Amino acid sequence: MVEIGCKIIQDLLPLFIHGLTCDESIKTINEHLNKCDKCSQVYEALSEDINMEGNLISMGTNCSYSKLQKKIINIIYGMVGVTLIIGILMGVSTVILFK
Ligand SMILES: [Zn+2]
Repeated sequence: MVEIGCKIIQDLLPLFIHGLTCDESIKTINEHLNKCDKCSQVYEALSEDINMEGNLISMGTNCSYSKLQKKIINIIYGMVGVTLIIGILMGVSTVILFK
């Protein structure tokens, strides 16, 4: 089994608490939390915060990355689109200015 660092575990904890991690990740995080006091403290603090928001902790059985992935892909496409438009505008204005 690959040992995963505390930083990565703590990075994944919000997703883990929201049930957005895969079975494999859930297993790895649970194993890490069992032997790492630091991370289990972070986990408890985070899950308390989330419980106060009224969200349920769902121990997801399926991978539910798709929603998050779609959001990220939309943001990336938006950024690429804006960059392209700026590039085209700059290209056009350079051609006009230096004719
Ligand atoms: Zn740890």
